[in-house]
Amino acid sequence: MNHDFDLFVIGAGSGGVRAARFSADLGARVAVAESRYLGGTCVNVGCVPKKLLVYGASFTDTLAHAAGYGWDVQGAAFDWATLIANKDKDIQRLNGIYRNLLVNAGVRILEGHARLIDAHTVEVDGQRFSAERILIATGGWPQVPDIPGKELAITSNEAFHLKALPTRVLVVGGGYIAVEFASIFHGMGAKTSLLYRRDLFLRGFDHDVRLHLKEELEKKGLDLRFNADIARLDRLENGAIQATLRDGSQLEADCVFYATGRRPMLDGLGLENTAVELDDRGFIEVDDDYQTREPSILAIGDVIGRVQLTPVALAEGTALARRLYAPDQYRPLDYQAIPTAVFSLPNIATVGLTEEDARKEHTVKVYESRFRPMKLSLTDDPERTYMKLVVDTESDRVLGCHMVGPEAGEIIQGLAVALRAGATKRVFDETIGVHPTAAEEFVTLRKPRDA
Ligand code: FAD
Ligand code: NDP
Repeated sequence: MNHDFDLFVIGAGSGGVRAARFSADLGARVAVAESRYLGGTCVNVGCVPKKLLVYGASFTDTLAHAAGYGWDVQGAAFDWATLIANKDKDIQRLNGIYRNLLVNAGVRILEGHARLIDAHTVEVDGQRFSAERILIATGGWPQVPDIPGKELAITSNEAFHLKALPTRVLVVGGGYIAVEFASIFHGMGAKTSLLYRRDLFLRGFDHDVRLHLKEELEKKGLDLRFNADIARLDRLENGAIQATLRDGSQLEADCVFYATGRRPMLDGLGLENTAVELDDRGFIEVDDDYQTREPSILAIGDVIGRVQLTPVALAEGTALARRLYAPDQYRPLDYQAIPTAVFSLPNIATVGLTEEDARKEHTVKVYESRFRPMKLSLTDDPERTYMKLVVDTESDRVLGCHMVGPEAGEIIQGLAVALRAGATKRVFDETIGVHPTAAEEFVTLRKPRDA
């Protein structure tokens, strides 16, 4: 049958744009439908604006440190509205770049909500298009637990557009977004509390890393409340929000920010008109080739709920385009040792196994270091950096690298290459350091920690 397109992509986010562009470059006739914003979550309400806000918040420390280096910065003041306006301008620029990328690749852009009519037909604003294959790359959406007063809470989507910096903020959750935004709000001067339902945030990260970050955030004056869960939210007469916790205690705030995970974005998608099925967590079920139960429909990115990171959605998009339109270039994606960073202040970054996971299958040696970053030596900032290597005793292979400290993401990216290449501790030891840097510590760790 002659279809309008070879590939119809729903969602112009990280994964969708990559798959559309690469498929078109490889000769496919491609359309992409986007209902909100070109570039998706990462560009508009995710990685990019988040990192700009983290940079904004980091100036508090930079200004405080400046005096030790001879600078007089008295009178420095922060204006939230300026930061948000400049951030919005930069995102508009990026939206334009995404549009050009698609147009230059020959992809047809359809701006509107896409709905599946059947296994080969998509409707956008009343117009129907047929395609040999359809790719669902609709991403995710913040999820707030169903408590009384939940409509008083905001999520990351709204935080990027707040008219003013709130004076008192409660951040709820213990994952990436909660920890990053707690650092943003606190760094900008809001009185910030982070409430997490279990005993230590960032479940899944290395335990020492989690503990180190907890200590550093507390040193900075962030109010961390673990084993704390909100039962209800109420608007007070003075306009503030009152949070009542499950233990009966109450907290008052001007802004309650929920970061309690993201659900797949399937609203109005018309999955019921196809054989696509969901997994037990509600994400689109796919096999190793990103194939759903409907033979003509594929899915990648956050909507399949594997690893919700932009570089992973990009890599899935690349792999899919190559498998479909350039099989000789195709290599399945390896989900092992994906590096990742949490852009809290200080940052966390990690690649490979945590000590806890490594110990399940290996006998390990652990090397670690805690030190004061050199940049702070002329200041009275007590922040300390933490670095850790987890090494397999038998093979000497480095199984995991972890860091809490400035620019951790920048440093771990390089180590991720070493781990992928199978580097042993001996290779690390034989690598010459760059002096004076924090990163050189990773190649000078000599003595393993006592078990
Ligand atoms: P998305 O980027 O969400 O794109 C999906 C697109 O589909 C959206 O544009 C949406 O409007 C569109 N869409 C949905 N339904 C339809 C429909 N029916 N019709 C038409 N269009 C539709 N990852 C990192 O790696 N590093 C970070 O620092 C980082 N920070 C983050 C910070 C925040 C606050 C958030 C929320 C996420 C962050 N992420 C980060 C995660 C990252 O943004 C996602 O993993 C990534 O965007 C997923 O890409 P995707 O293509 O699957 O979906
Ligand atoms: P996460 O899945 O990382 O964390 C969700 C947090 O909310 C967990 O601490 C979880 O607790 C808690 N939680 C879940 N449900 C409830 C509930 N009902 N009541 C109270 N707490 C609850 O989600 P995020 O929203 O932080 O981020 C979504 C994803 O986006 C991340 O997993 C990551 O993949 C991506 N992202 C990446 C970033 C980066 O690369 N720097 C930055 C931001 C997002 P528990 O531990 O008990 O399950």
